[in-house]
Amino acid sequence: MRPLTQCKALLAAVLASAAVVSTSAPAQDRAGERAAMIETIKSHARSAPSAVEGQGIDPAVLATMAKVPRHLFVPEEQRGAAYGDRPLPIGHGQTISQPFIVALMTDLINAGPGDAVLEIGTGSGYQAAVLSPHAAKVYSIEIIPELGQRAAARLAELRYGNVEVKVGDGYYGWPEHAPFDGIVVTAAASHIPPPLVEQLAKGGRMVVPVGAPFATQFLMLVEKRQDGSITTRQLLPVGFVPLRGGGRAR
Ligand code: SAH
Repeated sequence: MRPLTQCKALLAAVLASAAVVSTSAPAQDRAGERAAMIETIKSHARSAPSAVEGQGIDPAVLATMAKVPRHLFVPEEQRGAAYGDRPLPIGHGQTISQPFIVALMTDLINAGPGDAVLEIGTGSGYQAAVLSPHAAKVYSIEIIPELGQRAAARLAELRYGNVEVKVGDGYYGWPEHAPFDGIVVTAAASHIPPPLVEQLAKGGRMVVPVGAPFATQFLMLVEKRQDGSITTRQLLPVGFVPLRGGGRAR
């Protein structure tokens, strides 16, 4: 984690730029609702101290979420509810994750400006958009072609230029671009996918929900140390849609 003072300075800078943008750019509409969502995320984080590792969610991650227009990532009929702290349907039986979980997962991989990050389960593209300013490059894989294509078009339109989406089975990762400094899996697997562990860089971190569908799943943090050894930690109970394909939860 970055030192607190540096985070505060960064937050001040980001907030200052947000304040300037908010008077002009249309993407900033509903900024007040996003600000309220950030307060909800912070209080949720306070109630899950062991998951957020001491200091709470990185202020830089919260500053990003104060800017990303979540309402543009959900279907028209869900737009009114876009800033509540809950998952919402995005079609094909899938959901956009709850904002607190998006914040937590982004915080936990602790990516930096030079890093390559892999996301499994593009869905709406929202988590990829939130990851975008915290990495050099975000690679995201979606198994449902229509969702993947729609998310790719949306991310391009909103100018998240460092995000690349492909349609495929994310259980097997994206070997051409490995290793990844951070991996975020946004669907629940029955086990931690070995190909993803393999594609994690030394010093890298992966967050992945593990468990059977309709049973309790746990968000797991997987770390690969510099010597290549793996540590895993169970963080908190979560409810994700199942990972399909090679890693489907049985
Ligand atoms: N991160 C998304 C939410 C994802 S919901 C967002 O921000 O909106 C989980 C997504 O994982 C769904 O879109 C589902 O189709 C996708 N998925 C399930 N199994 C997958 C697999 N094996 N590979 C890639 N994507 C998968």
